[in-house]
Amino acid sequence: MQATPAEIDALLRLQQIDLDILQQNKQLNELPQRKVIVEARKKRETIANKYDQVRTLEKDAKRKLVRIDDEDASLAKKEHGVQAAINAAQGDYRNIEARSKELAGIEKRRFNLKETRATVQAEANKIGALKAQIELALEELEAEERKASEEFREIGGVLKNEIAALTKERDEVAETIDDELMTTYTKTSARTGGVAVGVLEGSRCGVCRAPIEGGRLIDLKAKAPIGPCPACKRLLVIRPEGE
Ligand SMILES: [Zn+2]
Repeated sequence: MQATPAEIDALLRLQQIDLDILQQNKQLNELPQRKVIVEARKKRETIANKYDQVRTLEKDAKRKLVRIDDEDASLAKKEHGVQAAINAAQGDYRNIEARSKELAGIEKRRFNLKETRATVQAEANKIGALKAQIELALEELEAEERKASEEFREIGGVLKNEIAALTKERDEVAETIDDELMTTYTKTSARTGGVAVGVLEGSRCGVCRAPIEGGRLIDLKAKAPIGPCPACKRLLVIRPEGE
């Protein structure tokens, strides 16, 4: 295949740039912060669901406490009224007896309410503690995600800049290479996962290391300065003898 020494140099440089770009992209895709961010988001979602449940429980408990307090307040008022009626009854024993029974009933109900309230309050306290725990965990996850995002932006930014600079250089180098050679290079590169060009080292392919013998070596050398490896079909640069 025809190529000037400058084109051969450009091709080898192009190969190096492409491998560098590949490597930088790989680094960018495999930045550990990416995984940290994804994991933190997943965890946050799970915890956020739990948080919603706990908040519903908290609301229920608060509502129950308000109901109990309302009932108790109304019972206290009633109790006060009945007590006043007893005080006013003066000697009307039947009335006093009936009122006293009513009073005892109210007291009993208030006592039971007090017990229920204590139970509900203990439950509410537990829920409150759980809520605080979840809030703390959410804060920690948010901080973790924020830190990883910042690092990702910073390190990723450096990598992206490097890739942009390499891409610019690549375009300039590619400009200097013959179209047909470029097409062959591009196709070979796609087929071989990125390493399209090697150098013939003695009688071996510099990439796949296959020995190239006899007539095949003579055929290849006839294609100098560049020809395909008979084994892997990569482009092999054939240096003039003695170089
Ligand atoms: Zn080869």
